[in-house]
Amino acid sequence: MYSIGKVNEIVGGMAIRIPNSDQQISELVYDSRKISLPEESLFFALSATRDGHEFIADAYNQGIRSFIISKDVPFLMDKTDVNVLKVHDTLKALQDLAAYHRKQFHFPIIGITGSNGKSIVKAWLTQMLSIDKKVYQSPKSYNSQIGVALSLWNLQGHYDLAIIEAGISEPGEMDALAAMIKPDIGVFTNLGIAHAQHFKSKEEKLAEKLKLFKESNLLIAGSSYVPKEMVENKPLFSWGYLEQDDLQLLEQQQVGQETQLDIQYKGSIHQLKIPFTDKASIENVVSCVAIMLNLQYDIANIQQRVYGLKPLEMRLQLKKGINNSSIIDDSYSNDLASLKISLDFLQQQNQYQKKSIILSEMDGLEENEKFQKKLSEILNGQSLKRLIWVGKDYDFLTALHIPEKLFYPTTASLLEDLHNISIEKESVLIKGARIFQFEKVVERLALRSHGTVLDINLNALTNNLMVYRSLIPPQVKLMTMVKAFSYGSGSFEVANLLQFAKVDYLTVAFADEGVELRSAGITLPIMVLSPDADTFSALIKHDLEPEVYSMSFLNDFIAFLKDQQIKSYKIHLKLDTGMHRLGFFPEEIPAVIDRLKSQDQVVVQSFFTHLVASGDPKQDEFTQYQIDTYSQSAKLLEDGLGYNFIRHVANTSGIVRWPEAHFDMVRLGIGLYGVDMDRKLENLEQVSTLRTTVTQLKELKAGETIGYDRKGVLHRDSKIATVKIGYADGYNRRFGQSVGKMQINGKLVPTVGSICMDMCMLDVTDIEVKEGDEVLVFPDLMQASKDIGTIPYELLVNISGRVKRVYYYE
Ligand SMILES: *Cc1c(COP(=O)(O)O)cnc(C)c1O
Repeated sequence: MYSIGKVNEIVGGMAIRIPNSDQQISELVYDSRKISLPEESLFFALSATRDGHEFIADAYNQGIRSFIISKDVPFLMDKTDVNVLKVHDTLKALQDLAAYHRKQFHFPIIGITGSNGKSIVKAWLTQMLSIDKKVYQSPKSYNSQIGVALSLWNLQGHYDLAIIEAGISEPGEMDALAAMIKPDIGVFTNLGIAHAQHFKSKEEKLAEKLKLFKESNLLIAGSSYVPKEMVENKPLFSWGYLEQDDLQLLEQQQVGQETQLDIQYKGSIHQLKIPFTDKASIENVVSCVAIMLNLQYDIANIQQRVYGLKPLEMRLQLKKGINNSSIIDDSYSNDLASLKISLDFLQQQNQYQKKSIILSEMDGLEENEKFQKKLSEILNGQSLKRLIWVGKDYDFLTALHIPEKLFYPTTASLLEDLHNISIEKESVLIKGARIFQFEKVVERLALRSHGTVLDINLNALTNNLMVYRSLIPPQVKLMTMVKAFSYGSGSFEVANLLQFAKVDYLTVAFADEGVELRSAGITLPIMVLSPDADTFSALIKHDLEPEVYSMSFLNDFIAFLKDQQIKSYKIHLKLDTGMHRLGFFPEEIPAVIDRLKSQDQVVVQSFFTHLVASGDPKQDEFTQYQIDTYSQSAKLLEDGLGYNFIRHVANTSGIVRWPEAHFDMVRLGIGLYGVDMDRKLENLEQVSTLRTTVTQLKELKAGETIGYDRKGVLHRDSKIATVKIGYADGYNRRFGQSVGKMQINGKLVPTVGSICMDMCMLDVTDIEVKEGDEVLVFPDLMQASKDIGTIPYELLVNISGRVKRVYYYE
């Protein structure tokens, strides 16, 4: 904690006003949606996708009284109770403050970078070192220019060692990270092709990454990734297959689910039993071993700890829980920084009013009053209904303003008593340090999934939203399509995220989809594309805004509203410019104007049309015709009504290919879910992954047949895998007879025979596979849809409701 006066000194700011220079700062904030301790928070007006200066009023209204700005903010002019520091560059100020804080600590700091594996190496190393050390690891998603600063800000004196991850995507970024982290020991995990787009060559990328270690005393890296010449004047500890490597890898052999790896270190040979078999995991383990050798652990100890490693789920997961609850499973680490990330996520959940937390003891709490105070303030700020605490019982816990508090000394005692706690219609965050094994609690509270799961990556969804947002001017509004269960990916789970991301509108197909979102606490405006007369009362009750597409519908709706004595209800007028589905023809607009002017039950909130082929260059002339027709009608309507309304035309491909069709708002659909129909955007991320597992393996002779009607005839002796996904799950029957290709252990394998209702069979003769292995059902969604003559939209929305959705967030 530093006083704001001290902060000003550290960042070299110009104090516009410091009425309270002793104000202690413990939290650094840059997002006004994520504020937990306003009095002790310092708000940095950063300029990212949005300019942080725009959110100062919001932050002020939430109680923040200390700001760092880089340009004048009229709002702050007359606020005499506010500390305002002005700097040239607010991000630099944040980083300088983090760098200063980091310098207060003299325990070793390990800095990790590399293309892949840095998070897993960090997590495994923490897992192995935590047995005898207090280890701080930076939260997974905090590895960027802002994230690293926040990670370092959370360093505290009771740690023995800290592991900080650094990630870059563009040249020039590493210097700032290196200046903050100043790692004593540097670790380079590997060099892959990820994020290559901004670099001219692999060498350039490597050179940029190595800048992290400029001032390190030691660098640990694989010799195949970092050639000795690249780090001439730096002590290098290399691992690899070369004789001159400090840690040389010799024979390796796969035995069941393990790998036995012979290594040579300081002239003697040892064997490691690694509980993984894939190449990436083995390399990551070797990185950890190299680090531990350099931390002076002896081989026997390392061998034992490596053997105890477990595959880690490092991302937070949102799952359906028992008795209509939502389970947020973040049972992988526990410290203040990562607790805050998961509490933010808990706060984004609107589906149940009740929010609870199951929390484990944290390292360093004992006899550390400051830490205890901060934890209580954070927990008090969350309007939690229940705290279930596992670990040592502290006085400060009893004093928390949480109505229901339960204390258990151990996870075992909680598990024993769990059936007495009624968990129902609530969102429960489960957050514990690894040693508490909260996965056992999750197992009891989350509903089980039966083999086939649809993973939904919420970070990818956020990323894609930003990608499209960056394609439209700031004043253009964003409507996102969540019809058909958000293209198969979820209802409130996706809508919560969109609401948090402050999109302007949501769109559903039917009234009941909108009702479901409203009962899950979604407050954004919602447009309904295909409303029916029998849902009028539901529309009004739940504040849903209908698309109005015909005179008879308009008349019926007006009559209904009149009957209910409702005025000025928002409607969205649809123009048919060529789709010939729903909508008024342009010729009808004068009559629509007359009708609207003769009543006061409805107001036109928006006027829109739908492009039929915005993605198809061959139809560009027709698209242009649609846009022109729309513009003329919009002008006519506006003149006729005498007021403005939101004009919108563009769907996903329209956003990308038709900037002139952005008007006042765009309607983002398939692109949000990561499908780039136009193949123009390189930074979209895949949102959903449908995966299942191999249930049974069979060796069969040539001539045997597979499945119904003997359709799958074997022309050679074959190995056949049965997987639990069939047409009832949305795996179309047309994928049968080798048309569909799934992926197992990185290899594509065809279906064999017909697809059954709940299962299908794969020809795995040519690959290494064992029962229980993971299977990717659609390794390439675009290709899969082509294979059966459809489009990705159809495959996504057909993934049946019985396939469990699990949401991931980092
Ligand atoms: C579904 C839909 C969209 C979104 O289309 P995408 O191609 O998925 O972007 C936009 N507008 C209307 C009217 C729709 O029905």
